[in-house]
Amino acid sequence: MINVLFMAPQKSWAAYKTELPAAIAEVGVTAHVSPDIPDEEVDYIVYGPKDTGTDFTAYPRLKAVLGLWAGVESIVGNETLTVPLARMVDPGLANGMVEWVTGHVLRHHLGMDAHIVNPDHLWAPSPPPLARNRRVTILGLGELGTACGTALARLGFDVTGWSRTPRSVPDLRCLAGPSELETAIDGAEILVLLLPLTPETENTLDAPRLARLSPGAVVLNPGRGALVDDTALLAALESGQVGHATLDTFRTEPLPADHPYWQNDQVTVTPHIASATRPDTASVVIAENLRRAIDGAPLLHLVDRSRGY
Ligand code: NDP
Repeated sequence: MINVLFMAPQKSWAAYKTELPAAIAEVGVTAHVSPDIPDEEVDYIVYGPKDTGTDFTAYPRLKAVLGLWAGVESIVGNETLTVPLARMVDPGLANGMVEWVTGHVLRHHLGMDAHIVNPDHLWAPSPPPLARNRRVTILGLGELGTACGTALARLGFDVTGWSRTPRSVPDLRCLAGPSELETAIDGAEILVLLLPLTPETENTLDAPRLARLSPGAVVLNPGRGALVDDTALLAALESGQVGHATLDTFRTEPLPADHPYWQNDQVTVTPHIASATRPDTASVVIAENLRRAIDGAPLLHLVDRSRGY
């Protein structure tokens, strides 16, 4: 019998309290799963708090931490954490992100806004180009960037992806490393940010790089707010270099009421809903990792603490 501490907001427990024990039983592991286990009896932590300050030294028996989120920037630098850390890679998470990215790319590609909000009833036909003539760049070719890039390529978009190490994804032009970032961005009409937030990726989208986009380009940021230099983006929106930004993630969340993004007609704010971990599919991932931990097998989706993701 292992003790699994569910450390996440109370409302998450309501979503997991049936699915997670059932998934763990399904892989043949006997576990007590609860948000309320004495510190000295905790073997594993399923981790999903929004704050950063957990002291893991309080759990002397702790063997691994299994994250509920794909992004780990709030925990990866925690020096009290000395056991393996796995992050969430969940088919439901990828499905949701594909839907959000594809939906917002199509909105801008097709120029839907002009027809949805047309108070003067203008009849002004301006057919959009075909997807094959629309250049989309995705920064980050991991689980989510690859799924989104593949979906967009299937729709016919001309997709370039960029990662830290070289990748090969069918139907995508794949570039990698700092030396190819500018090439990846040059002339992009729709730019999607799906990088993790690390010291290397902070402010990836700065003024010089915004200037390399196709004039009037669209920026989608479902990655993390701090990937973007906000001042530079607001200036690029003001000048018209960026035509619209659809932002799902921000340096401060919730986005403060007086933030200029709320006031800007060229900015669409979505409240960090691009994709969520789904309890049914995520429970299966956590259960499989507990099984592996008990069998002494390598955990899935381990975070490389030195890389930061
Ligand atoms: P992965 O770790 O699978 O992929 C990350 C990608 O970014 C990889 O291709 C990686 O390169 C690349 N990368 C990392 N650092 C660099 C760098 N310095 N230079 C170039 N490329 C780099 O992450 P996921 O795809 O699962 O998730 C991506 C991010 O999406 C998460 O970290 C999170 O911030 C965000 N997210 C947002 C959600 C939302 O609702 N808004 C929901 C879920 C996630 P390489 O392939 O070489 O390793």
